[in-house]
Amino acid sequence: MATKIVISPGKYIQGPGEMKKIATYAKDYGQQAFIIADAFVMNMTTATLAESFANSTINYTAAKFNGECSKPEISRLQLLAQDSQSDLIIGIGGGKTLDTAKAIAFHMKKPVMIVPTIASTDAPCSALAVLYTEEGVFDEYLLLPTNPTVVLMDTEIIAAAPVRLLVSGMGDALATYFEARATYQANATTMAGAQPTDAAMAMAELCYRTLLSDGLKAKLAVERNVSNIAVEKIIEANTFLSGIGFESGGLAGAHAIHNGLTVLEDCHHLYHGEKVAFGTLTQLVLENAPLAEISEVLDFCRSVGLPTTLAELNAEQATEAQLREVAVAASVAGETIHNMPFPVTADDVYAAIVTVDQLSQTL
Ligand SMILES: [Zn+2]
Repeated sequence: MATKIVISPGKYIQGPGEMKKIATYAKDYGQQAFIIADAFVMNMTTATLAESFANSTINYTAAKFNGECSKPEISRLQLLAQDSQSDLIIGIGGGKTLDTAKAIAFHMKKPVMIVPTIASTDAPCSALAVLYTEEGVFDEYLLLPTNPTVVLMDTEIIAAAPVRLLVSGMGDALATYFEARATYQANATTMAGAQPTDAAMAMAELCYRTLLSDGLKAKLAVERNVSNIAVEKIIEANTFLSGIGFESGGLAGAHAIHNGLTVLEDCHHLYHGEKVAFGTLTQLVLENAPLAEISEVLDFCRSVGLPTTLAELNAEQATEAQLREVAVAASVAGETIHNMPFPVTADDVYAAIVTVDQLSQTL
């Protein structure tokens, strides 16, 4: 029998107003916390942090994150954390802030608390940080030996963020079940380093069902600056279910096609999850999924406003040569598309992209 591994954060906490209790949760892991956040998030949370820590036995030092998860920025903040003799690192904000906190904690061998203020990707729970150069160009992946010690989601803050971010998170979460299913069928290896467990598969499937039942309700609520049970369920699906699902269930076609789409200059303004949603549709065509399933995913994307055509990706001007470049990039050796349960060529990917665009205009 094959080895199966599931990995996850030590503790996942979610609810409205949870940021107010941050010190109560933090005190189980250290005596001196080092908190990083960018200027915007720092402004938004300063009073809440001060009040929470004032009522606690744990102290904290806060430092402003300069906006780029780069090696120099990680070193600069790590020195500040060491100077303040911190024994717990806390990152509050979006992906780059959170990844920087993960990297600092990794280098210092200290626990890390991840506090996302948006739910736009499934990265927060993962044992992964993406490093960029100071100029913002991709540098390398930092694969961490452990997932975050704690992930704390204040749904009041997350629901108040722009709706497009929550919808992008749904796009990222949409891929999870289909990529895990393909990985499972192929007996391929996940980011956790072995074959998927049934637990990760079940979470990936629940993630998809939650999107179908609650995605539209959540989107409409957040659009009008209110929250409801559907918003809570979508935040959990985008962050926790998709987080375990992608890392321990596997990545396959959808994310590779996303990576291919980054070749197109015209798509650069799109969010990760928006491109992943189109990648999901492309994967379904690639594997010749039943029309009913493709229609279900198309309907979902349309209901929440995720792109389903090249025009909606801002790529209607893309030439055949450019789309073939996307397909080549999506299928280079080592890409996760080779976790699909059959061989995939660049020609297959090109054909699937074109077919999705036509199907979407026909159905
Ligand atoms: Zn993703």
